[in-house]
Amino acid sequence: MSKKNNDFGIEKSLKNLGISKENKGVSSGGKYFAHGETIESYSPTDGQLIAKVKTGDAKDYQKIMDAAKEAFKEFRMIPSPKRGELVRQFGNKLREKKDDLGKLVSYEMGKSLQEGLGEVQEMIDICDFAVGLSRQLHGYTMHSERPGHRMYEQYHPLGVVGIISAFNFPVAVWAWNTALSWICGNVTVWKPSEKTPLCAIACQNIIAEVLKENKMPEGISGMIVGDHKIGDLLVNDKDTALISFTGSTRVGRIVGTNVAQRFGKSILELGGNNAIIITENADLDMSIIGAVFGAVGTAGQRCTSTRRLIIQESVYDEVKNRLAKAYGQLKIGNPLDEKNHVGPLIDQDAVKMYLDSIEKCKAEGGTFVVEGGVLEGKNYESGCYVKPCIAEVENHFEIVQHETFAPILYLMKYQNLEDAIAMQNDVPQGLSSAIMTQNLREAELFLSQAGSDCGIANVNIGTSGAEIGGAFGGEKETGGGRESGSDVWKYYMRRQTNTINYTASLPLAQGIKFDL
Ligand code: NAD
Repeated sequence: MSKKNNDFGIEKSLKNLGISKENKGVSSGGKYFAHGETIESYSPTDGQLIAKVKTGDAKDYQKIMDAAKEAFKEFRMIPSPKRGELVRQFGNKLREKKDDLGKLVSYEMGKSLQEGLGEVQEMIDICDFAVGLSRQLHGYTMHSERPGHRMYEQYHPLGVVGIISAFNFPVAVWAWNTALSWICGNVTVWKPSEKTPLCAIACQNIIAEVLKENKMPEGISGMIVGDHKIGDLLVNDKDTALISFTGSTRVGRIVGTNVAQRFGKSILELGGNNAIIITENADLDMSIIGAVFGAVGTAGQRCTSTRRLIIQESVYDEVKNRLAKAYGQLKIGNPLDEKNHVGPLIDQDAVKMYLDSIEKCKAEGGTFVVEGGVLEGKNYESGCYVKPCIAEVENHFEIVQHETFAPILYLMKYQNLEDAIAMQNDVPQGLSSAIMTQNLREAELFLSQAGSDCGIANVNIGTSGAEIGGAFGGEKETGGGRESGSDVWKYYMRRQTNTINYTASLPLAQGIKFDL
């Protein structure tokens, strides 16, 4: 490695974030305990053990859940703008800790330092958004059909929100859910990915300061490190009013089914299989940058990563050649070193999945324009660094229909835009999509009801990198959930319709007569 990770100030950041060599992984507002197995968190950047974490067991789970339920009784009575004040303070703490937390995200998860800092910025942005929203949880008023009656709708908190998150956004997804949950009057219990437990502990330490300074009950923010067994407890607990799940479609299917069985609410944010259509009217300079960033950013481990390029045949060869040239210039290495474009995959299992997908693609007839492979040697001791690769394929290949969470980009050709849109939609997932064109008709067709079927459809930007102001999520096997901005807060509240009669008689709706 050109530099040791200590040279990037990792040790200091860990200390500033309250991470020790041995940690307890269950927290109720910063009070730690844990009685489960011990897991070890290794950095995919250098293969080094960062720290150990004792996970939670079923009793630990019950303890934080009981604390959460108790805290909810108090928290729901605090006016929303006052809860917004807590979120404002949380955002300020994040501003203070941005460098340290961004660095830990990069070191534990493996994304570039810039993307780690960007993830913390998303946390800050959602806090700002939620503070304003805390004064705007509006309901409708409507005219009653009965004289002397008034009707309106109001929103109440749900209770305990269970958050289950994926490894690839180890801090932002929790913050999106927490900031909105809090202003809505809910308390949270978080099960982070067991692949990034230290990021979760760092977040709990930051939020615990806010709770302490405001003398708030600890149960408002619970967290338990554990595997699928803990996730299962949270999902099947009737005391969890809403499960906000971010992860693979495979696990999301189990979670969604189990929550539905008990008539709970769920927000499902699952896998994507995102495409960019590049038309003959595209600005190719922009298209190449958008496609390369989308495909290799976070080493292809974003739910919105660009996996497919659907290219008009007249510009196909030029796009293919320019992409191959751009891939030749990519620097792969330690993501904390800002000169590198591509960091490692999360672990050896992910490397195996990447290699298996390349083999399957070849077996189905895919031709590699840029070959993949695992990097070895002095700078790549963790064994998690792989080469971003590009293959020419057909959309119907089984492997192309799947999300492989790695930097494999598939190219395919089209003649008519209608066919390109059909190909873009012809996958089970429906998260993010984009068209590169300077032609208004093409752009508007793509955005029309006959266009992209995804939750996100962009023009002249890539598929990855959403802002927090919009509702985020996707259709079909991406789960249909929405998180983050816009009016998503409504998912975190229960709606109640109220009718008030201020007369001395009791007229019934629809003019029904019932005289005694
Ligand atoms: P994963 O599905 O393996 O794990 C996600 C979380 O679910 C982890 O915390 C895991 O411990 C937990 N879990 C596993 N089994 C469970 C069970 N039976 N019950 C309850 N919880 C269980 O996903 P991952 O590998 O961590 O993340 C990558 C996936 O997440 C990709 O498919 C990616 O597209 C998706 N993702 C989606 C979004 C989105 O917003 N749509 C965002 C980020 C990641």
